[in-house]
Amino acid sequence: MSAPHKVDDDCIFCKIIAGKIPSFKLIDTDLSYAFLDIGPIAKGHSLVIPKYHGAKLHDLPDEAMTDILKNLKKLAVAQGLENYNILQNNGRIAHQVVDHVHFHLIPKPSDSDKEGLVIGWPTQKGEGFEMDQLKQLAEDIKGKL
Ligand code: 5GP
Ligand code: ZN
Repeated sequence: MSAPHKVDDDCIFCKIIAGKIPSFKLIDTDLSYAFLDIGPIAKGHSLVIPKYHGAKLHDLPDEAMTDILKNLKKLAVAQGLENYNILQNNGRIAHQVVDHVHFHLIPKPSDSDKEGLVIGWPTQKGEGFEMDQLKQLAEDIKGKL
């Protein structure tokens, strides 16, 4: 069975896959493509994208995701990374700028806020987040799976 492909001619990442826009290619498989990010926040910051155009994670066929994860692991191992983040943004307010699914592999070479991913982590407490409410929430979500 052939790999699922979908192209949007106006999409910058579809153009990169097609070679219409140059990129520093790292990996090229039937299902995905990896290349260096043009605006790196750390040395080795790269992107792994499906060869199936979809804006958000839930738009992708499962095969594409499996292949992408394998390639993220390959890139981390090849660079001998010990500290790194995998980031995949969905939607504008979640910091997505390019509407073709992409996974960032972002090395974290030091604990400095000057390189690598810097994360805010606003842990929620109190009303809406009590233990019994979390229990109910888990039931609600499981009921929809
Ligand atoms: P987002 O905020 O959508 O998760 O991240 C988009 C990423 O794509 C950014 O890190 C940006 O630097 C990268 N990017 C945008 N356009 C290009 C491009 O033309 N070439 C490459 N290599 N990276 C790009
Ligand atoms: Zn695309």
